[in-house]
Amino acid sequence: MNQNHSAIVSIAMQPSGRRSWTLVWLLAFVVVLLLLYAATARSATPDEGRDLALVGAKVCPTPRAFPIKNAAILIHDGKIVAVGPRDDVEIPKPAYVLDCSGRIITAGFWNSHVHFTEPVWSGAADAPAAKLAEHMQTMLTKWGFTTVFDIGSDPKDTFPLRKRVDSGEVPGPNICTTGVPIYPENGIPAYVPPKFVSLLKPFEAATPADATRIAKVDLAMDADGIKLFTGAIMGLGKITPMPVDVVRAAVVVAHAAGKPVFAHPSNHVGTDNALNGGVDILAHTIPIEGRFTDDELTQMKAQHTALIPTLTLWQVELERDNAPVAAQQKFVQAGVDELKTYFTQGGTILFGTDVGYTQHYDTTSEYEYMLRAGMNWRDVLTSLTIAPAKFFRAGHTGEVVPGAAGDLVVLDADPALDIRNYAKVGYTIRAGKIIYQK
Ligand SMILES: [Zn+2]
Repeated sequence: MNQNHSAIVSIAMQPSGRRSWTLVWLLAFVVVLLLLYAATARSATPDEGRDLALVGAKVCPTPRAFPIKNAAILIHDGKIVAVGPRDDVEIPKPAYVLDCSGRIITAGFWNSHVHFTEPVWSGAADAPAAKLAEHMQTMLTKWGFTTVFDIGSDPKDTFPLRKRVDSGEVPGPNICTTGVPIYPENGIPAYVPPKFVSLLKPFEAATPADATRIAKVDLAMDADGIKLFTGAIMGLGKITPMPVDVVRAAVVVAHAAGKPVFAHPSNHVGTDNALNGGVDILAHTIPIEGRFTDDELTQMKAQHTALIPTLTLWQVELERDNAPVAAQQKFVQAGVDELKTYFTQGGTILFGTDVGYTQHYDTTSEYEYMLRAGMNWRDVLTSLTIAPAKFFRAGHTGEVVPGAAGDLVVLDADPALDIRNYAKVGYTIRAGKIIYQK
């Protein structure tokens, strides 16, 4: 700054003829600098329609495969068109090349349990894009999520948000949503803010006919699934169950439309009513009970029910309630043990954290708890990628293979060495576009 200032002062002090030529040269130099800057700024992110090539990383094409060292991935038109050792992949000249040397690349992550219910999403149709983009990063893309399943939010916010994300205006993941959940009669959970209770009252199902009607309302809004509170937490230890025939009525409507049904089970009754009603996904473990019964595990396995552990949530909830540390640990361990029993029996596990309800966005401890439940880095990657892609019939396999969606996570460190490295995200890429960059 001082140097520039003194240069201008010395030019001003020169005789006028020499001064004008020096000024011309200086201006020309500045113009060249500006042009160079503009050129680099333009190539900082891939242009619309430009191929994206990621080179030099160790790529995990699928959880069970051998990683490819010093690999190259080429994404064209939002889809992966080539993956292999760097020397074997021909990268067209105009492609934007991202050097990923020393990094690890996996398929994009799914978070199968989120909510777009925080105040920041309110009025998402008209809210400033920058505000939405910032929170999308904090809550989701920073952690590698390229697809999320919102299982309960206000469709007035979630559908416009999804539209703005899909248009590219707000960088974010592919959003699936269940719309408004269905509650048991007098079963709006105690933690729902009082101002929303009257709005949610019409979504209480006292009878199978109510459940049929409400499920149809959600699906008519273009929901991707249905969420049921088969065990609603009413405070003071009270849990209100949803009767099996009410559960089944909603499941019939959803399945007729080819859509999955999630249940918030809370306890054994909520779990059993969900399973007997044909629900597809248990959205939480049930640490309040300490374990799933053998009958529950058998039925879950037979019905191909998926389980979302949400283990970090249990710690966060008990911390908030100032429970003694020993009680926190015991509660989380119960969830870990429940995950372990279902996982070791070959049950489908889907990664999910309930972010949006909880403000604990960091995924590190969830990976640690899953490891403690006996899942290795490959099993965790399965729960983040191929298991949800298959379970929710995503139209691709959740692998890094030609033909798959160009959804990738570039990790700064190797999760095979330390499971916590799944939370160390350098880039999140959706359909060949960088939606997060550290
Ligand atoms: Zn939730």
